[in-house]
Amino acid sequence: MDSARRELLRPYVAQFAHLFVTEPTGGEPQAIDLSTTGTTRITLVALGILALAGFASWLTATQLVRPIRALTAATKRTAEGDRTARVDGGAGEIGELAKSFNAMSEKLAETERQRQAMVSDVAHELRTPLGNITGWLEATQDGLAEPDPHLIDMLLEESLLLQRLVDDLHDLAQADAGTLRLHPEPIALDDVVDQVVNAQQNREILLRAETAPVHISADPVRLRQALGNLVANAVRYTPPGGEVVVKLFQEQDNAILEVTDTGTGIAPDDLPHVFDRFWRADKSRSRRTGGSGLGLAITRHLVEAHGGTVSVTSTLGAGSTFRISLPL
Ligand code: ADP
Repeated sequence: MDSARRELLRPYVAQFAHLFVTEPTGGEPQAIDLSTTGTTRITLVALGILALAGFASWLTATQLVRPIRALTAATKRTAEGDRTARVDGGAGEIGELAKSFNAMSEKLAETERQRQAMVSDVAHELRTPLGNITGWLEATQDGLAEPDPHLIDMLLEESLLLQRLVDDLHDLAQADAGTLRLHPEPIALDDVVDQVVNAQQNREILLRAETAPVHISADPVRLRQALGNLVANAVRYTPPGGEVVVKLFQEQDNAILEVTDTGTGIAPDDLPHVFDRFWRADKSRSRRTGGSGLGLAITRHLVEAHGGTVSVTSTLGAGSTFRISLPL
């Protein structure tokens, strides 16, 4: 049966292959005998592979470990208060991490600068009215000034200035902390415009409103404050005989409030800074020509808290237009 099967399958199966292993006759099997050239070659190849492996490990170490060490050192310096620490991380994921770290350091340095500037600005703002109040009170105590109604008026003016500054700072602190509470309700924006325009009527400047009926949901007190700041500025920076117009209209899905004046205008270089805290075009900080420099910063916060935006266009010597856009 077995041989019959083999016979049958033979045409389909390959021929046998014979493998012969021979050993030298008489004695132990010999070790392979390599020539000196062969041994040297093998040693050199082995050393080459070792060197390559070493180089590869060194490369990985420098590529990976060095930037990580640099990052660790920079993080420690930042934690110790050094805001100038930056890292050069190269390419790849570590490079991305280094870039993020540098961006964070940059932001921290900027925040620190702003904080220092803010403290020094607040101190500067408080010094003048407080100095005036102290000076007048000392003069009265020494009998050099009479505590007459005129003096009381002056003292009251200084104290109101302080009060306004502290209120503004409080609003900004609340906005920063995210605790500025809005009490939105359905309101007619034209009523808000009328109230602001009536409150700021001025004998020297023509202040008028051009409104259309627009209804939105907003905090009326905060909106009056935001628009009031713009109108107060427009009146303050417009010489007698000038004109200030407050327009209210609807544009697509937004309510637009525009305050246009024929005042001093703002230089193109100054425009990006007008909404910064304590920024004033007139650096002399004279109270006759300006307020605390917080009004526009507060307006921007209040408008943004309502989900809106505020922007400005201006021509030096011709006038400015501040524009609030609120979602309907
Ligand atoms: P301030 O209390 O000094 O008015 P604001 O934050 O309200 O502070 O305004 C910042 C600065 O922007 C002002 O000091 C002024 O230089 C400039 N500014 C604001 N509104 C106007 C305007 N309508 N016309 C010209 N300059 C303006």
